[in-house]
Amino acid sequence: MIDARDITKAFGATQVLRGVSLELAKGEVVAVIGPSGSGKSTFLRCLNHLETIDSGTIEVEGKTLVTTDASGKRSYAPEGEVRAICRKMGMVFQHFNLFPHLTVLENIIEAPMIVQKISRAEAIARTERLLAKVGLSAKRDNYPSRLSGGQKQRVAIARALAMEPDIMLFDEPTSALDPELTGEVLRTMRELADERMTMLVVTHEMGFAREVANTVVFMDQGELIESRPAQEFFADPRHERAKAFLHHML
Ligand code: ADP
Ligand code: MG
Repeated sequence: MIDARDITKAFGATQVLRGVSLELAKGEVVAVIGPSGSGKSTFLRCLNHLETIDSGTIEVEGKTLVTTDASGKRSYAPEGEVRAICRKMGMVFQHFNLFPHLTVLENIIEAPMIVQKISRAEAIARTERLLAKVGLSAKRDNYPSRLSGGQKQRVAIARALAMEPDIMLFDEPTSALDPELTGEVLRTMRELADERMTMLVVTHEMGFAREVANTVVFMDQGELIESRPAQEFFADPRHERAKAFLHHML
């Protein structure tokens, strides 16, 4: 579903990604873990073109988003194609990013109506289905300010799903939540995984990574250091930095 190869990215003089490669298969759940500042968010943001890469290749479902030729010249697909490719991916952020002036329903129906040009009635029907799925049917007409953090994040997940993505990208979806609210969000994500959604999840939740992810990748200082089946990784991390990180987290 995603094939990223040799991605490099710098912000000014800071080299943030130093040749990161990652493959994501259909139905696979990959957890990306690693210390703060290691480039996890930047990598995710490069995949759906919220950031441009400096070099490397990204293919999504066989379509080339960006590639780099032998001379080092990077080229992105034409704008329309880039947009179509990025629509295959839904993204959920740490800070929800809901529109505060719109109700839950309005937050969710907007993109399908504008981008997919479906009717309001169809968008509402889809939204009601998704709200039932994330357990928030009763909050349909509330504004985000009336919701808990966990509820906001579940709305954000429903909003991403409303665009019918093939892949979901999560960037530390529970990191901004009070500890007692992380469970409900992780449960929703686990249900998605059970339905065989293809997911790339940056997380500090080691329990989730161990139990739900098929593969764990460990990043440090802009490099992808280790990529292993989750059970194996947690039982026996190979790299010293991964060991130290796990020791610190568990
Ligand atoms: P992580 O998500 O693993 O914590 P990030 O991808 O957010 O790491 O950040 C990696 C590095 O890139 C950090 O040193 C961070 O300060 C830097 N960085 C991230 N975004 C920007 C930006 N927009 N401008 C400049 N530096 C950035
Ligand atoms: Mg981050």
